Amino acid sequence: MSVTTTAPPAGPVTDASGKIRCDACPVMCYIADGKSGACDRYANVGGELTRVDPLVVLEGTLEKGEQVVPFMAAGTDWDGDLVNPGDRFVTAVGAGTTYPDYKPAPFIVSSEADGVDMVTVVTEGIFSYCGAKLKIDTDRHLGPERALVRFKGEPVGHVTTGEYGSQMLSVGGVNHLTGGSKKEGRMTCQAILDLCNRQAVELTIDDGAAVIVQAGKAPIVDGEPETRMRVGCGSATIGMFARQWFDHVDEVVVVDDHITGVLSEHQAGKVLGVQPTGISIKGRRSTPGRYFQVAEPGTGWGGTDISDPLTILGDFSAKEARPGLTLLMVSTTGDHAAFFVLDEALKPVPAPMPEPLRLTVDRIQENCEPALCSVVFIGGAGGSLRAGVTENPVKLTRSVKDTLTYVSSGGAPVYVWPGGGITFMVDVTRMPENSFGYVPTPAIVAPIEFTMRLDDYRTLGGHMESVVPLERVRDVARKRNLLASATNPWPMNRTNFRW
Ligand code: SF4
Repeated sequence: MSVTTTAPPAGPVTDASGKIRCDACPVMCYIADGKSGACDRYANVGGELTRVDPLVVLEGTLEKGEQVVPFMAAGTDWDGDLVNPGDRFVTAVGAGTTYPDYKPAPFIVSSEADGVDMVTVVTEGIFSYCGAKLKIDTDRHLGPERALVRFKGEPVGHVTTGEYGSQMLSVGGVNHLTGGSKKEGRMTCQAILDLCNRQAVELTIDDGAAVIVQAGKAPIVDGEPETRMRVGCGSATIGMFARQWFDHVDEVVVVDDHITGVLSEHQAGKVLGVQPTGISIKGRRSTPGRYFQVAEPGTGWGGTDISDPLTILGDFSAKEARPGLTLLMVSTTGDHAAFFVLDEALKPVPAPMPEPLRLTVDRIQENCEPALCSVVFIGGAGGSLRAGVTENPVKLTRSVKDTLTYVSSGGAPVYVWPGGGITFMVDVTRMPENSFGYVPTPAIVAPIEFTMRLDDYRTLGGHMESVVPLERVRDVARKRNLLASATNPWPMNRTNFRW
């Protein structure tokens, strides 16, 4: 069987005017010579339907243990020298799509790895059921849970449950792609595509902030670049730094939208022997030294809406407080900090911060990790895509669950969800750049590879007649060889399989 970069094996149809009909997705574009189709993935090159982007082939290390360099650091053309074909892996990036799905996947490649005959089934899947989960390292309030996330004014997702030190957004999904207006579907597709291809995307949140999200980069919230992720909640911060504060200040309040900590009441302060200070906090007391809801969420101190920390304090009790008592107020990132001394009326008065306390604020900052945006693509390959792999699709699902088949996306490892189907997640920063495409149905095109033993492929009813040896892939007109990321497991590693 010949191997080409042209799309569907059934062969494209040419009309009377010389336009080729692309049948790689339901749109069925007619493409004139020298032009590309609606998705810019296929073009008519001299009467031949051609996948525009090169096929990405990963190069492993030549010797085990040898240092490899990251993606994109070097790209050399395949020179046809297959001294060690086991160290090459054909990804689905640039591989093309088949439609309808009963056609065999564009590349079903056999190779040998450590003496075992292997096969990798490679396709660019079209995902109508997909989206991106965004983890945005910031304490700043981006918007209430369930609030709509918009891209260019259209609803494309929602605020979902926050995690420790991060706000989480869900973008995409079939309801936004197909269930709203045409514009909503297009904007949703564009937002997912740009996010997954590591572009900077500005999202606005109803009753919340505007945030610029780019995978692997710091978020920008309402025009302000975020630098640090919180060191912990207010209570955790008290626990971590209580001993360092003990000798230098009478009271510390760590302001946090979720759990504000108070040193003198907290268990850490009690154990150290910190004396009561008569402080009163306006929030809802949870356990000693831990307060919820001290203010409204916002982009001020510790993810609250306050710019003056004293607004969360009630009057000091004259029973325990005294003039001259010292108070440090600090946020969970150390971005905000202020020092006060009680006057004769037991009112906190701002004062210059003593150097030892300044050092503890610096220490909080030092212990904060850099704030980043993480973009994880999530897609369901449980449907018809599997038919391009086997005539009996459910067997592929079972083979994945049995760890006989290893799933990767652009060569990057994926997490496959438990339960039915093949619903997987992948960190887009572990994939080659620009791994994603789209079709105007609208849907996202994402690479997916299934690797297994050749014998297992035969057993699950694979398209054996379409298997081609790795050597034949060098005949593909356009390829881009990339050195594999040192942090990704090699897809052929035995440890990926249960045998
Ligand atoms: S949108 Fe792209 S894949 Fe779909 S038919 Fe047109 S050129 Fe082919």
